[in-house]
Amino acid sequence: MKRKKILILGSTGSIGISALSVVAEKKELFQVVGLASHRNESLLLEQASRFGVSKLALSGASPKDSRIEYQGLEGLLHLIEETDAEIVLNGISGAAGFLPSIKSIQTGKNLALANKETLVMAGEMVLAEAKKQGVAILPVDSEHSAIFQLVKRFDKEAIEAVVLTASGGAFRDLPREQLHSVTPNLALQHPTWNMGKKITIDSASLANKGLEVIEAHHLFEMPPERIHVVIHPQSYVHSLVETKDGNFYAQIGKPDMRIPILNALTYPSIHSHSMGKLSLSNVQLSFFEPDGEKYPMLPLAYQALRRGGTYPLVYNAANEVAVDAFLKGFIPFTGIPHLVERTLQWCDWPVNMEGIEMVLDTDSRARSIAQAILSQKKE
Ligand code: MG
Repeated sequence: MKRKKILILGSTGSIGISALSVVAEKKELFQVVGLASHRNESLLLEQASRFGVSKLALSGASPKDSRIEYQGLEGLLHLIEETDAEIVLNGISGAAGFLPSIKSIQTGKNLALANKETLVMAGEMVLAEAKKQGVAILPVDSEHSAIFQLVKRFDKEAIEAVVLTASGGAFRDLPREQLHSVTPNLALQHPTWNMGKKITIDSASLANKGLEVIEAHHLFEMPPERIHVVIHPQSYVHSLVETKDGNFYAQIGKPDMRIPILNALTYPSIHSHSMGKLSLSNVQLSFFEPDGEKYPMLPLAYQALRRGGTYPLVYNAANEVAVDAFLKGFIPFTGIPHLVERTLQWCDWPVNMEGIEMVLDTDSRARSIAQAILSQKKE
């Protein structure tokens, strides 16, 4: 059987490492034709020799080793253009993943998407481009992967709503009044998933779920009022679909990112693997309504989505600035939603999205404004 050629962006991050472990598990299915890392040169080189990959990019630092042919953002985009990958797995964290996604689509490669920001920043534009190029966007995020598998079993008219589950993050059981004084170290302890720093903080604030609501809106063409969020501490139910008759259909399995990665890379097939599975004996499932006052990042995401245009992009940009400031100890945990809310309210952000330039300009403007609000606070 011919192996599928894949290019992995963000190969040294949490998603990239999981993806390579999927490749190692299913060697007969995949051939890695390129790897890109932001700064971790030594791990990149180690991965390259382990998987026999010669096309390598380091986008955020100057490579010391001459085996790394592509450097900087330009280099990364060239790598995407020049590899003959059939599918690109975008595991880059944050807004930095946007242009690589666009380039993958423009060069006719299917996109296994773990980078939420691609759709949050410019969902309509990205999906229109994918349609034009005839490429598939395959969600890797566990919630969207679950919904993606479920929705295709029904007629579109049969679906009432999609329900995203949230673990509730590190502070699920902490009273709201104590959130003010939590430290970055505490916030980095996620109860069920082991992930990168930014996404772990976003899980604790539910900003991650907010971004996922926006992502679901684009992927499944659902209006905000038909996208629901429930707190599900066990993380076994990856997400649900509600049909018109009031029934819920759930995808239930082991919380292991490698499984949605495998499903995205092999879509539409489903493959067996030896990465373990959930045993249903003694499994308890519980669900709670999220507390919007404890987690303002969730209602703020719905607001941004309803306003449309560049508002979701501004939400994301301000959140990136806020999380960075929290990790550096400049603002308390509760300062994250404050900064995002103030940035969203700062001015009338454009509600029409016209072209990539506008996406990038608005993104950098939102960041400068969020930074300016931060420095006012420090004075
Ligand atoms: Mg997720």
